Amino acid sequence: MGTRDGVNWPRVQALAVRERADYIARHPASQALAMQAAPHLLFGVPMHWMNDWSTPFPLTVAAASGAHFIDADGMQYADFCLGDTGAMFGHAPAPVAAAIARQATGGYTAMLPSSDAAPVATELARRFALPYWQFALSASDANRFMLRWLRAATGRSKILVFNGCYHGTVDDVFVDLENGAPVQRASLLGQVHDLTAHTVVVEFNDLAALDAALSARDVACVLAEPVMTNVGMVLPQPGYWDAAQDIIARHGTLLVIDETHTISSGPGGYAQAHGMRPDAVVIGKPLAGGLPCAAYGMTQELARRVEHAKRSAPAGHSGIGTTLSANMFAMAAMRANLEQVMTAAAYTQMFAMAQQLADGLRASIARHQLPWCVTQVGARTEFQFGPVPPHNGSEAQRLMDEELEQAIHLYLLNRGVLITPFHNMLLVCPSTSDGDLQHLLAAFDGCLAALV
Ligand code: PMP
Repeated sequence: MGTRDGVNWPRVQALAVRERADYIARHPASQALAMQAAPHLLFGVPMHWMNDWSTPFPLTVAAASGAHFIDADGMQYADFCLGDTGAMFGHAPAPVAAAIARQATGGYTAMLPSSDAAPVATELARRFALPYWQFALSASDANRFMLRWLRAATGRSKILVFNGCYHGTVDDVFVDLENGAPVQRASLLGQVHDLTAHTVVVEFNDLAALDAALSARDVACVLAEPVMTNVGMVLPQPGYWDAAQDIIARHGTLLVIDETHTISSGPGGYAQAHGMRPDAVVIGKPLAGGLPCAAYGMTQELARRVEHAKRSAPAGHSGIGTTLSANMFAMAAMRANLEQVMTAAAYTQMFAMAQQLADGLRASIARHQLPWCVTQVGARTEFQFGPVPPHNGSEAQRLMDEELEQAIHLYLLNRGVLITPFHNMLLVCPSTSDGDLQHLLAAFDGCLAALV
């Protein structure tokens, strides 16, 4: 009998075949829309990666509200993907919907600050304990702009990232470690520059490697998630960030913390919840309730260096900023979201629910005696196909199994539960109910029973 990741492999394969057939039978409307899209959308979808889900053809969403959505065939789902964090506080939260409705007749974009800009920046400064802010349309853009500002401000050309990281479509970060050597990620399309010339990569949780990589004092900044979340989940070891921050500061390098996913840790992100002192923070996805919007903040000292860099440069295009960034619509949505949705009370509720979810997954995994583990970072939970949580990107990568992942995801989807594709992440939002949780846990347990 073939076993892989602790499960009976022929059963995984048989289950995947059954679930694909079941999905096709249940989704005639989604299938018809996919057929209509095929001749006009590249890969049949508005974004090519939407075709990489576990389903035989894309599931089309008809409407989403709170912790649920309905597909084009009228089937209801408990949503634990929540737009991979974009809808982390629920779909269409009422205060954001009201702000959007108000702004709908008040204009969308004028290339000028709106009256929401100052209150929003004040609130971001309070939450993240960083006084100066700028905006972008996506976390990818915010990271890109941040790298540009920091290279300009420091006069250093290199950046450092952790092996296995993801920070959006920022070319500079697509460098991996292969047998200890930096290599440009093979999947990156159309990149003609040698990214290894200006990107240094080390393993997460390796202080000696970090120290050595920064010692030439040519690295402008470390760009990092405080917990790696895009290669499965990798937690920092106890004391790691305290020591890492000392090393980074000693070499005159700046620390940029990307809180786009770890905002699951609290209203001011992981850095605030865990007493970190980054020079800068980036956040996107859920900031405006799921509308395209991102923000980046920095210390006063860094802001002065950034201002100096701009004033010292000739007038003209800076390579930073896009026309629709900080538009009136997004600023109105962000203000309502920050003031009324992303509240401390919402987090308290989400933490309690996520704890139950993680406990429930662990109980199910133990019941079926699987060598898997579960990691939780605030409202964010991940199960991984290994007995102990990984310590770095290489270990985490080795635990991933796309085929098994897809079989599980499709089984859950056919039972009305959506989890995040491309790894095994589950989010709860303030309106995730106990019923939703029990629904998920029962489906997960049923899946494991079918696989062992
Ligand atoms: N940073 C992190 C940590 C992310 O996980 C992502 C996207 N998954 C991004 C940035 C980029 O976000 P977006 O795709 O919205 O630009």
